[in-house]
Amino acid sequence: MFEKISIIGCGLIGSSILRNINNKQISKSVTVYDKSKSAVEIIKKENLCDNISKDIQSAIKDSDLVILSVPLSAYKEILLASKDHFKKDVIITDTGSVKKEINKIFENLNLKDVFWIPSHPIAGTEESGPSAGFKDLFRNRWSIICEDENSNKAKIEKLQKFWEFLGSKVKLMSVHDHDEILAITSHLPHAIAYNIVTTAILNSKKDETIKYSAGGLRDFTRIASSDPIMWRDIFIDNSTNLIKLLDNFSDNLNDLRKAIVEKNGDKLIKFFASTKNVRKEIIKAGQDVKSPDFGRKKD
Ligand code: NAP
Repeated sequence: MFEKISIIGCGLIGSSILRNINNKQISKSVTVYDKSKSAVEIIKKENLCDNISKDIQSAIKDSDLVILSVPLSAYKEILLASKDHFKKDVIITDTGSVKKEINKIFENLNLKDVFWIPSHPIAGTEESGPSAGFKDLFRNRWSIICEDENSNKAKIEKLQKFWEFLGSKVKLMSVHDHDEILAITSHLPHAIAYNIVTTAILNSKKDETIKYSAGGLRDFTRIASSDPIMWRDIFIDNSTNLIKLLDNFSDNLNDLRKAIVEKNGDKLIKFFASTKNVRKEIIKAGQDVKSPDFGRKKD
């Protein structure tokens, strides 16, 4: 299907892609490039790829699919270094968690004879780096491909087949819808988790908080242990959507606070009952199982 695929950034997401495509079924060759020496060492040690480039230009040379799986703040530097070295008609895609700002970078560069099609696999864990990657990460998870009125249908179809090959279900949507939906399903929960764990650390004796941590705090510490650079970039790039939701969140929190101050039991029951069914619906939609493994299961 492809002559050569290049993966730029081979951490959790890039190495999980690599683990699916290094058997020549979907591409005659696969090349990776990562600026991290330790990531390269792990890729070599685990025998994940024969072709590891020393520079971005040789990594993307002659590739018909280039996948950026780096932090959002690295795109500009990578594209400036590679813009004159892409093969004609290459598909450039990515795995980034916010789309509006990186789309602007591509628009400003105005690259000729390349097809930029943003993607985002809604799959991941709180871990980072190539050792955290695993083959089944994308299996039965949604991958979003962003399209607009100028998108090339044949190239989108090719990219859709690529994500399906990795086991994903694919949904096409606009950049605007992508960023709005992910703000509620992923970015707001991370903002809240970071804040809950910060509150727990600052307002209690840390040793006791850790020793007696109940399920409630424990579940948030998993989310709040995610990579700081990745989440700094996401919050900055999706700030407009996130700020709107944080304002809604504060309003709802104030309502809850008021009900607690007033010891208004009816209001509290109404508040909690309205959210109880959401979990059942998420399980019914196949987005989680009753006993979650938080996507940690490895093959
Ligand atoms: P990761 O595990 O930290 O891997 C990223 C790799 O890219 C690291 O080895 C990093 O090296 C390298 N890198 C950084 N700048 C680079 C550059 N200029 N050139 C080449 N390599 C560079 O990150 P990840 O979790 O795979 O996330 C990658 C992307 O996928 C992010 O944009 C993220 O938003 C998105 N995503 C993540 C998840 C998730 O759950 N983790 C889920 C969906 C999408 P250093 O460590 O030295 O910086």
